[in-house]
Formats: sequence, C-alpha cells, structure tokens
Amino acid sequence: MAIEFHIISIFPGMFEPVLNESVLKRAREKGCLKIFLHDLRDYAGDRHRTTDDYPYGGGSGMVMKPAPLAAAIEAVKEKAPGARVVMMTPQGVPFTQAKALEISAWEKVILVCGRYEGVDERIRQFFVDEELSIGDYVLTGGELAAMVVVDAVSRLVPGVLGCEGSLKEETFSEPMLEYPQYTRPENFRGHAVPPVLLSGNHEEIRKWRRRESLSRTLAKRPELLAKVQLGEEDIKMLETIERIV
Ligand code: SAM
Repeated sequence: MAIEFHIISIFPGMFEPVLNESVLKRAREKGCLKIFLHDLRDYAGDRHRTTDDYPYGGGSGMVMKPAPLAAAIEAVKEKAPGARVVMMTPQGVPFTQAKALEISAWEKVILVCGRYEGVDERIRQFFVDEELSIGDYVLTGGELAAMVVVDAVSRLVPGVLGCEGSLKEETFSEPMLEYPQYTRPENFRGHAVPPVLLSGNHEEIRKWRRRESLSRTLAKRPELLAKVQLGEEDIKMLETIERIV
C-alpha cells in the first residue's frame, strides 16, 4: 500500500529537512510514501508572486488570496485525481489518532497550509473537503501542522514502519496511554527495572502492562477511559487501582 501527499504552501522549503529523515525517508525510498511539494507562489499569476492581500472590512494582518489557492488546488487535483483536500486551520476538527487512521486509508491527500490571518473564506467553503486542527493553539502557519499530519498518518500505512507489531499496543491504538517501557541497564543510578519484566513470564508481563496502562490513563487522562471497551479483567484491575489511589 502507498499514500500520496500533495502539500500546498508558500514555504515548500520547510518540509524536506523534516520529511526526508529516518522512517519517512526510508518509506519514501521504498515507495510506500510519496510527497509532492507545490509552491503556492507558482500560482500567483502576477510578477511579484503575490499570495496575500488586505482584509475586507479592515483589521490587522493579511489574508491569503483565493485565486492562487484555487488555481493550486485545481492544478494539483488534476495531477492527483480523487485526492481529498484538507486545510490546516485551528478552527478544524481535532487531529486525533482515529483521524490519522482514517486518513491512512486514503490514497491521495492534498494538504493546504495557511499563513498570515488565514485564508479567504471562499476557499474553505468551495474548495476544501476537510479542515484539521492539530491543537487548541495558533501557529504562524500550517506547515508544521501539515508535517504532524504526514508523520502521524504515514506510520499507519502498511509497510512504513519496520515492525508493525509496535502499532498494535502503543498509546491511542485503543484510547489509552501505553505502559512504561524500559531498556538496559537493569539498574540505572539505583533505579531498578520492575522485576516482572525480567521474569520471562509472558502472562504476568501482559497483566502488569495492562494494569500499568489502565493506571496511567486513570491518573493522566481519565476522560479517555470512558471510550475504552473494558473487559472483566480490566474492571477488576481498575477496582484495585482505585482502591490504592
Ligand atoms: N486567524 C486565524 C484564526 O483565528 O483562525 C489563524 C491564522 S494562523 C496565524 C495562520 C495559519 O496557520 C492558518 O491559516 C493555519 O493554516 C495554520 N494554523 C495555525 N494554528 C493551527 C492549528 N492549531 N492547527 C492547524 N493549522 C494551524
């Protein structure tokens, strides 16, 4: 399987240093991840390659002009038929692991990066399929947000990660936090690894990890537990955890 991202931005140079390292670099070399960068200024249509203008009604800052964005989206859609257009905006739906999983099944995605005070409203209304926010804070531009989306989605595409087993148990693969992880040395500055992890008893290790996962989620993100399908064992574990806490 492969996924194709088309990114529209006035700063296409920001992407390669991040998206051409490590796991994503290897995925691109293997062909299961394709990234195409499109410079919005190429669609500006004037000598100065202008992509922003003053806001109607006054106010501070600039707004991204609709014509270059529309031209870029249309041109990219011709190169990538069937692609869904996603605009990065703090007003979008929250980008979650579930959303990343959903996008990982799409074959082609166009990510539109805003700048300044945002984009002309008519782009959102008539050219965009989805709006995504990576969190309740405001960035200077959509580029970092788009990189977050590419990274989180790509690693869910079959073949991108070397060890696919690691996807099954990690944080948010179900709406819970992952258990603590340890590696060598067994004793680090007087702090020992929990003995059960050295026992070789796989069933005891599984139970310990599940309990830790439940306990962490309860302590750090209790609201997530309402979304977990708890089994009988989980409920018993939670009862003992709650008694201790
Ligand atoms: N004035 C806009 C508003 O209040 O919605 C914010 C514009 S922001 C300064 C410029 C661009 O950064 C946005 O168009 C969007 O592409 C991107 N951006 C900022 N925060 C973001 C977030 N939390 N998630 C996704 N994109 C974001």
